[in-house]
Amino acid sequence: MKSKKQRMYQSEKSPKSFKPGEIIMRQGEIGRNAFIIESGKVEIVVTTPTGEERVIGTRGSSAMIGEMSLIDNAPRTATIRAVEDCKVLEITKDDFTRRLNNADPVIRMAVQVIMTRYRDTLTNIEARSGEKDLSGVETLELVYAEKADAIEQIRIANEFMEALDKNNGEIIMFYQPIINMDTGELFGFEALMRWFHPERGFISPGVFIPVIEETRQIIEASKWAFKTACKTLKHVEKSTHYHKELCMSVNFSSEDFSAPDFINDVYDTLSETDVKAEQIHLEITERLLIGQPECAKETLNMCRRAGMSISIDDFGTGYSSLNYLHAYPINTLKIDQSFVRNMENDKKLLELVRSIIALSQNLGMETIAEGVETLQEARLLKELGCPQAQGFYFAKPMPEKEVVDLVNNWNAPII
Ligand code: C2E
Ligand code: CA
Ligand code: CA
Repeated sequence: MKSKKQRMYQSEKSPKSFKPGEIIMRQGEIGRNAFIIESGKVEIVVTTPTGEERVIGTRGSSAMIGEMSLIDNAPRTATIRAVEDCKVLEITKDDFTRRLNNADPVIRMAVQVIMTRYRDTLTNIEARSGEKDLSGVETLELVYAEKADAIEQIRIANEFMEALDKNNGEIIMFYQPIINMDTGELFGFEALMRWFHPERGFISPGVFIPVIEETRQIIEASKWAFKTACKTLKHVEKSTHYHKELCMSVNFSSEDFSAPDFINDVYDTLSETDVKAEQIHLEITERLLIGQPECAKETLNMCRRAGMSISIDDFGTGYSSLNYLHAYPINTLKIDQSFVRNMENDKKLLELVRSIIALSQNLGMETIAEGVETLQEARLLKELGCPQAQGFYFAKPMPEKEVVDLVNNWNAPII
């Protein structure tokens, strides 16, 4: 099967073949055409000023190579060499220009703008790498890496939204228990997003959340996450009979708070799912408060007045100003896992954890320690007076079905 991109050029030119080792384009030569790889694999090779060759990447079927020649006649910045039997379709600059001139004026303008910006971006990267005192080859590696990054991010953002729309179980919520350290009872759960991509497998939220924050698709994702978490909480309450009311902690990003309908969506979801505001903890980071103080403050105040709790996630890893603890309606500090991880071996960190717990208590706030992996860490935190904790020692994040089983069979863990 040929891709649409390949079929577009099929009618005019037959593919050119290259044997392994043959050069498709050479560094330093003026480029007058680009290619689409129909089959096979190529490598991108750069020759350093001292004559050393460095392979800085490979490309396979459907990739475009030498595309900058479609914009200008600058010399090729790298050599492209076949590493397998390759068939490539040629796109000449004239051909491209002719097609562009025949295109719808809006499309023509958009393509020209995008390509000019692309050229500007490359120039900027080169300038930046100049500041960093990199060699020509390192510059090019950076250019290719940033280009690959940009493409990867667009792909992640598009595929994420498709998966969220399809709602076919590719993106789901997992829940990690939060434990009351005094009694060993369940305090509640933190909702964490999971993406099981059909081809690429598990993609960590650490990878896709920053990308969808950038594109503001996080707003849609957060709405969905919040609603799903509330539905789960209700379902768990109905299918289990835990003797205490459980809470649900949901992560939000700064972009969420700039959405005009944020607060109404939250209220709507609460009434639709019949979850009490008092059961909800909104987890935000210090960055959020620094980024957009005024509008975030009013929104957070409304959430607090409605009965929700506000937790500061990864406390102590962001900005050092403690002013916001007083200025914002915060009632929980979450001790970052990097502190918990190293507090046994690092006396300073231990004192830091002790101070966060004391600070929290003195301000009448709750504290939750994150990333508790061992019994020793749990014991130490209990000794320090930390009221709640979560971490692999107690349980890993799990899907809704397992949450029901866990609540039904909950035994206080050994601390
Ligand atoms: P976070 O909010 O700090 O979440 C805690 C992370 O620590 C989770 O990683 C959790 O799986 C992991 N974790 C829990 N216990 C342990 C432990 O004992 N040891 C270790 N090593 N790790 C532990 P995860 O699920 O990969 O999430 C990473 C980050 O992605 C989250 O950090 C949060 O910032 C973000 N995130 C995840 N889901 C959402 C979401 O629905 N919305 C938003 N805005 N961000 C999310
Ligand atoms: Ca969190
Ligand atoms: Ca955290």
